[in-house]
Amino acid sequence: MSTEATMLERCESKCELCGAESALSPFIVSPHSQVTVDHAIMICETCNGQIENPETVDVNHWRCLNDSMWSPVPPVQVTAWRQLKKLSESEAWATDLLDMMYLEEDVAKWAEIGMDDDDEKPRDINGVELKKGDDVTVTKDLPVKGTNQVIKQGTVIRGISLGDDPRLVSGRANGQSMYVIAEFCRKK
Ligand SMILES: [Zn+2]
Repeated sequence: MSTEATMLERCESKCELCGAESALSPFIVSPHSQVTVDHAIMICETCNGQIENPETVDVNHWRCLNDSMWSPVPPVQVTAWRQLKKLSESEAWATDLLDMMYLEEDVAKWAEIGMDDDDEKPRDINGVELKKGDDVTVTKDLPVKGTNQVIKQGTVIRGISLGDDPRLVSGRANGQSMYVIAEFCRKK
């Protein structure tokens, strides 16, 4: 099943934030950049528009977080937390909900990392910042662009380098130099 089909099944074709049954599209929860089941949620145009353009926020629309903050799905929890955090600057009810909300430690860390929109650091699958010289493990089979080769899941790339694009890291594995998407690596 495709990622999007799996997500539609998870959300029962309802917006994972407000429950609307209108057209849904995947929303990638930063600092991640790929649509995966673990890092994206299905949301409606209203939610999407107001997240992308915070100046258009209709405060009352976000009362829906009262329900969706209890979702068992981590990327939904992260998005709900971030919205409540922003709303809590002016809305007492949002502060109250935020106080009630419970996030697992790694989910809480994810929620805070992604609040910074200018965050331009390469981050691994867990949102951990990658630095020059780190060793990483590839977390899924990745095709090598322009060839029919595949970098196998579990391949270790030692001593990575960073380039201009924060989404990519480079290094050598199996005697070859390669670029891989930071998000498909795990820091060792
Ligand atoms: Zn919605």
